[in-house]
Amino acid sequence: MHRSIATVSLSGTLRQKLEAVAAAGFDGIELFEADFINFKGTATELRRIVADLGLSIDLYQPFRDFEGMPEPQFRRSLERAERKFDLMEAMGAPMVLCCSNTSPLSVNDPALAAAQLHELAERAARRNLRVGFEALAWGRHTSLYGQAWNIVKQADHAHLGLILDSFHTLSLKDDPAGIVDIPGDKIFFLQMADAPLLAMDVLQWARHHRSFPGQGDFDVVGFFEKVLLAGYTGPLSLEIFNDIFRETPNRRTAVDAMRSLLYLESETRQRLASIDASPVQPRRVELFHPPAVPALSGLSFIEFAADEASAETLGALLRQLGFRRVGTHRSKAVTLYRQGDIHFIVNAQPDSFARGRFDAHGTSVCALGVRCADPLAAVGRATAMRSQRHDSPVGPNELRVPAVVAPGGNLIHFVPQALGANGLYEADFVLEEEEEGSENSNDAGLKHIDHVALGLALDQLDTWVLFTRAVLGLEAGESLELADPFGLIRSRGVANADRSLRLVLNVSLSQRTRTARTLSVTGGGAVHHIALDCEDIFDSVARLRANGTRFVPISDNYYDDLATRIDIAPELLARMRAAGVLFDRSPAGDYLHIYTESFEGGLFFEVAQRVGNYDAYGALNAPARMASQAQD
Ligand code: MG
Ligand code: MG
Repeated sequence: MHRSIATVSLSGTLRQKLEAVAAAGFDGIELFEADFINFKGTATELRRIVADLGLSIDLYQPFRDFEGMPEPQFRRSLERAERKFDLMEAMGAPMVLCCSNTSPLSVNDPALAAAQLHELAERAARRNLRVGFEALAWGRHTSLYGQAWNIVKQADHAHLGLILDSFHTLSLKDDPAGIVDIPGDKIFFLQMADAPLLAMDVLQWARHHRSFPGQGDFDVVGFFEKVLLAGYTGPLSLEIFNDIFRETPNRRTAVDAMRSLLYLESETRQRLASIDASPVQPRRVELFHPPAVPALSGLSFIEFAADEASAETLGALLRQLGFRRVGTHRSKAVTLYRQGDIHFIVNAQPDSFARGRFDAHGTSVCALGVRCADPLAAVGRATAMRSQRHDSPVGPNELRVPAVVAPGGNLIHFVPQALGANGLYEADFVLEEEEEGSENSNDAGLKHIDHVALGLALDQLDTWVLFTRAVLGLEAGESLELADPFGLIRSRGVANADRSLRLVLNVSLSQRTRTARTLSVTGGGAVHHIALDCEDIFDSVARLRANGTRFVPISDNYYDDLATRIDIAPELLARMRAAGVLFDRSPAGDYLHIYTESFEGGLFFEVAQRVGNYDAYGALNAPARMASQAQD
């Protein structure tokens, strides 16, 4: 498809926007009028810049408050249109977007609107330009695509067609099913936008909170599918008004934008394939077809980057957590710790990739190792979705484990499933002799990595949601807002279908929370805590305390309140109170968990036990932890 993006979707000057859009591989742009009005240059100069970048101007937008106006205003608007047509001819823009009228002067008369749009189209036709009419969700008399289509149909002019924008339809919960009945060649242009589900005024929602497809909660795939079934073959474009995108570096936004279109195309392609026997019109455009999403099955390892001193203290902490040092790397200053199926790698290599990317002080997670049936296919998927591949230097007899760079710079390695639980470590590490029958005396009964929580800068959340969906094939859960004593935290879980891989994306809406302060140390996009699961949390906590692990204390008031909210056996409540264990219940099951004190003021661990099919992260208890940490 011809892929396009509205210049309003990015930060920067017009020239910077165009360069970012071209670098991300777009074919064209929608020129947002304000970007041209404030551009230091003529329409002809703009035309040359755009052409030099290999782009086209697909749409000039918006032209407002036109249809349904009383005669004097209508005549003036025609004059205004002629001046815009002059510009469009000079810059080589073939189409103007006319959005439905919001003026209190406009009258509710579809026949008049049709006649006036016909006249506008007639004038456009004289210059071989086209007019697209779009229903704004807050249009005074025309807010639905069905109403706009009725007007376009009545106007009956070859140079007038319909512009569809998924935001306006989906925000009003209007049914897109009727789109398939509109002739594809009368749909002149398609704007796609996603958004989080918010209960707010639709104009404010539209102007500040739209997002790229795959970042929000709308059924954008269903919408796009209807447009294709109608027989549409025009540009696939993004028009995103978003406060955060206006300040995010535009190169990153442009890559997210391209990734969102590729994801939208590939998802829609799959959906259409499943209804190929349908009697409706067959596909007439080529949709992006990347390698399938990888089959992932849990985290094999987590790698920490540390300096020499931190590596020692982190090692001591891991031993308290029940881990045993089981090996050293064949060629690097790297140590392996193990408990149950959990592998932690501490990388104190002075020149490692990890250390290069992070501040050399302290400790942070630099890589995740995800078990995967077909690592090369997973990397193929990732690079098709515009992620960067990373190949680490490999020593003799060591395995090459392909990796991609996640947003923010951490690596995600795809560990071949075929290696089994320990194959990778047997190859790359000199394993210390484990004496026959000797038990790890510190073992705390921790079995797997339950989830990894990331602390993200505010402008990284949408990027991560799309990355985990498009590259890793994860499903996003609901978005929650949690109270830290110094601000709000937004939290969203993402997981694969069988829940063997879970990530939690946390963003601080305030600069003053602990989450935000952790970010300023690590630069954002950092692992914030690691949750490890066990089969008997009371037994594990007792062993961990005996090892010297310190947990975040929980107020007695929490347990008094818990008893009023949830029907819990008094004996269980007493055990939780004594152990400092937190509790959450969903219809599917229970979650018992506890947080350790943080290491070097940053990263901490969570110990968790899932009962039944509990599918969340105890987020409602995070305020108890945050308040406790604040009172230390
Ligand atoms: Mg629009
Ligand atoms: Mg957690």
